[in-house]
Amino acid sequence: MNNSEFDLIKKYFTFPVTRDDVLIASGDDCASVSVPDDKQLLITTDTLIAGVHFPEKTSPEDIAYKAIMVNLSDLAAMGATPSWITLAISLPAIDQSWLTAFSQQLHIVLSRFNISLIGGDTTRGPLSITIQAMGLCDKGKVLRRDKARPGDKIYVTGELGDAVVGLHSVLNELDDTALLPCIHRLNRPEARVSFAEQLTDYSVCAIDVSDGLIADLGHILEASQCGASVDLSAIPLSLSVQYFFWNYHNNVIDWPMVLTQGDDYELCFTLDEKNQAAVIALAEQQQLRLSCIGEITESGELLCFDEAQQAIHFSETGFKHF
Ligand code: ADP
Ligand code: MG
Repeated sequence: MNNSEFDLIKKYFTFPVTRDDVLIASGDDCASVSVPDDKQLLITTDTLIAGVHFPEKTSPEDIAYKAIMVNLSDLAAMGATPSWITLAISLPAIDQSWLTAFSQQLHIVLSRFNISLIGGDTTRGPLSITIQAMGLCDKGKVLRRDKARPGDKIYVTGELGDAVVGLHSVLNELDDTALLPCIHRLNRPEARVSFAEQLTDYSVCAIDVSDGLIADLGHILEASQCGASVDLSAIPLSLSVQYFFWNYHNNVIDWPMVLTQGDDYELCFTLDEKNQAAVIALAEQQQLRLSCIGEITESGELLCFDEAQQAIHFSETGFKHF
């Protein structure tokens, strides 16, 4: 590595370390952190590639925001509190204004969650951002995909489908201000971090919806070896998404679009009936929309029913890279 690359790392990817559990941050061959005895460490990585995970013209601020949030969403899915990240970035060129905007937004989000950037890698190549996020959870209290049981109720946070409508709007240049909230959700997903931290008191099973509800709930069912019955009329849709289908789709909701495209970054989790009231209260306290969308069954199948109690089948289950 030459001096200009060290300068670049120092200028854009070195923030003051505010956590006292960081023993060694950027500057050595490895970073080092300490983990309390009563906690377990959770580690996740996600890559965002220009043209694959975001349209080429996405702003550096939105890219920085989303690159962190998709990782925090994975930590939230398991009930972990985010603590540290590393950043591996590949840049086509050194564009100071792009780097300034990216770095500032990165710092804002990291500060908001008290996360320290403790290392990374900087290379030249097509724009790609890989973040590894690490978080802590009380020992034995992680939320897992393999813990659903028949009879559990299935819940989702927030609303589904905004990001895919936002993407459709950007790619087709719809230029409709009523769809701006969807574009915002596409670029600025909100990982349900604080809700998930408290959910660990009541739930044992969760996943984040990143590839579409059908695929992600499917992962829970596969891991837990059970089935589910989902009531489509209970799927939470924002006013903007309802407007989109009303205005651009003859007022017919395109369920495959809403449920198999992804980028929602909401949580899907299961609850024993007795814990429902406490979790509903928790969501209310956090002003987070919460919807019960169905129930875990023994069948081994994921069945979705529309308002007329007709079963709806999904041929494509989720976003696939290959
Ligand atoms: P090495 O050659 O030992 O792998 P590098 O020369 O790649 O280390 O990086 C030097 C230091 O700068 C390391 O401590 C590394 O963690 C840090 N670093 C490199 N790129 C980044 C980045 N994008 N963000 C944060 N830290 C980085
Ligand atoms: Mg080294």
